[in-house]
Amino acid sequence: MLSRFRINGEEVDSLDLKAMVVTKGIKVSNKIYEKFRKTHRICPDPLTCNCLILPDETVVQMTDVALHLKYLKSAMSLESLKQLKYFFQMNSPFKLEVSNSGRPILLHNGEKITEVEFPSKSHFYEQVTSSGLPYTGNAVLQGVDVLSFQCLWACDYARAGYPCQFCYSGGVFEQLARKNKPNPPVPTTRDVAEITDYAVNKEKAAKYLQLTGGSTMDPQAECRIIKSYLDEIDSVAGLKNIRGEVLVYTTPPTDPKVVDQVFEAGADRIACSLEVWDEELAKAITPGKSKFTGRKRHLDCLKYISKEYGPNKACSSFVVGVEPAESFLKGAEYLATEGIVAIASVWIPFGRPVMGKMQAPGLEYYRKVKVGLADIYMKYGIEPPGGVGFNVCLCRDTWNHRSEILGEHVQENCCGSEKNLE
Ligand code: SF4
Repeated sequence: MLSRFRINGEEVDSLDLKAMVVTKGIKVSNKIYEKFRKTHRICPDPLTCNCLILPDETVVQMTDVALHLKYLKSAMSLESLKQLKYFFQMNSPFKLEVSNSGRPILLHNGEKITEVEFPSKSHFYEQVTSSGLPYTGNAVLQGVDVLSFQCLWACDYARAGYPCQFCYSGGVFEQLARKNKPNPPVPTTRDVAEITDYAVNKEKAAKYLQLTGGSTMDPQAECRIIKSYLDEIDSVAGLKNIRGEVLVYTTPPTDPKVVDQVFEAGADRIACSLEVWDEELAKAITPGKSKFTGRKRHLDCLKYISKEYGPNKACSSFVVGVEPAESFLKGAEYLATEGIVAIASVWIPFGRPVMGKMQAPGLEYYRKVKVGLADIYMKYGIEPPGGVGFNVCLCRDTWNHRSEILGEHVQENCCGSEKNLE
């Protein structure tokens, strides 16, 4: 059952609250880090991808706005720092504090919303691989069961001057190219295999694995690189020990059959991400994908996967919040009719501006997405990846609660009261 809370006198459920916290960030009291870092997985380092867990187990990305600002200042160029003027317009109403009884509590404008939890203590971020690569900055644990590698290969599109507007890594690659600097080193296949072995077998902190990188100009896309990562993971950690699923992201190759080697190497699902469904907005927001790959190549590859490997094997991630909810849902439904999963990744607006804005839509937007996605998932038998859920994605949470979301929607319609839903 979805947990319910009251904010400013209005009832919100845990998915509404997740969307609000992810898009607004949160101020975290130092006392939280002092009290819980010894017993739980929480750390005052933005690279450790902190999350909080709501009473119904919904996982929520916890971007500490103060730490995030410090990190951006240290990591960004002077030019990019100008973008931070937008940041100062943001002042999150959410705060995490220690209650009088010693529990972590989430507050909204000083009013208590709920007690929360953190994942169990982990030593993951203290580790280095045998080659000396620190885990921190190269991989993250998300929620209670996911290991993700965020950037295993560089983005050629960004280096060519066409980064996606929302993508922090893309911005970094673009800046490096402008200064004729090389890409930062990426983890080797051995590094990735050792990190996976630690998370999956030693700490048993992950059942789901995600491999991601930038977009390359190679017509075979990243399929050979992904295969080499999967082969090494299998030999060191054993793919059979990953009890959930392996999801890999690749640029769609020009010949869709090239993805066969990735499934043969052990991937459970392959994502070729469109990010934005509206084609005109996509040209502006994802200029490299529009220019170098194009919609047709994405759709050809996704349809090939779905036809050859079955429904729910092909996925496309979308950045939810940068285009109207209706156009995102139109895309999600179109893909669902082909057995393709739309992954709904909530846009975190305080990194880079999109279409000149660093302001996410309001709650009604995310409610439309929640109800619309639940409906699409039910109608077409679509199941997004993951178990308990991811830090910033709404798709798995929506799927986990799809009957309740739709039941609630129908019931409220019957009563003639849709005040919170439309
Ligand atoms: S193609 Fe991928 S890695 Fe490159 S800028 Fe866009 S989202 Fe970022």
